[in-house]
Amino acid sequence: MLEIVSHGDVAQLQMRSWRTRAAGYQVSAYFARGVLIDTGFAGAAPALDGWLRNARRTFLHGSADGLQAAVLTHAHEDHSGNAGLLQERGVPVWIAPVTRQAFAELGAIPWYRRFTWGSPIPLAPDAGRQASGAVELPPGMEVIHAPGHAPDHHVVWDNETGTLFSGDLFLGVRVKVAHHSEAPRALVASLRRLAALDPARMFDAHRGSVPTPAAALRAKADWLEETIAEIERRAAAGESARSIRDSVLGREPAEYYVSFNEYSKLQLVQTILATRVAGGA
Ligand SMILES: [Zn+2]
Repeated sequence: MLEIVSHGDVAQLQMRSWRTRAAGYQVSAYFARGVLIDTGFAGAAPALDGWLRNARRTFLHGSADGLQAAVLTHAHEDHSGNAGLLQERGVPVWIAPVTRQAFAELGAIPWYRRFTWGSPIPLAPDAGRQASGAVELPPGMEVIHAPGHAPDHHVVWDNETGTLFSGDLFLGVRVKVAHHSEAPRALVASLRRLAALDPARMFDAHRGSVPTPAAALRAKADWLEETIAEIERRAAAGESARSIRDSVLGREPAEYYVSFNEYSKLQLVQTILATRVAGGA
């Protein structure tokens, strides 16, 4: 359920349940320099609460490594599912205003995602008092807006240790499925901007530690840029979205059927075509 993987000064809190295993998913939160980056999914609440009790005790005993704050990279329920629990336990949670807005706009979570991740504990009603400015991060650690995967997506950059906590920025080089809320062109820009930081380490919420981070981020940006260009070329030549999907991305994976096309290759093609700049190439 909750497995702690040590990466030296960074602890990876790997969360999965039989439900997430059945769907092929797991997600990790990371703990570094007193800050918890993301909170996992609601179904992991009992296990995370056990870990929190320990982390808080360490903090109360004055250790600099104790839990002092949490940061949400974005509103998706596998990252934000226990933000309410953390607040209940008195841990200040950094939540970007755009993420608060996303919570309001997300509305009801589709049943297959509720089944996989569990129903999130609602944010504390006094969440407004825990606005981003009220949460102090250690010197050298900052939150950077990195939209693409979602409009509210952020990463945590620790300049002191050269570590990038990338949330769902990376996920893999060739991610051929998308959700309609994704913005592939914005993602390319975010990937390049963060690659330029030349991180020594990168921790992905689903992939764990990613070797050669800058090269991985650039490879993904390159692949996505080439894919966007190819899709645009074919669309300009009059090819249909389905035909483009078949020739550029291939057959749909299992998620297509599980999510009723919420996540699909066709959706990636349609999102790219729907957001073409008028008159642009
Ligand atoms: Zn996400």
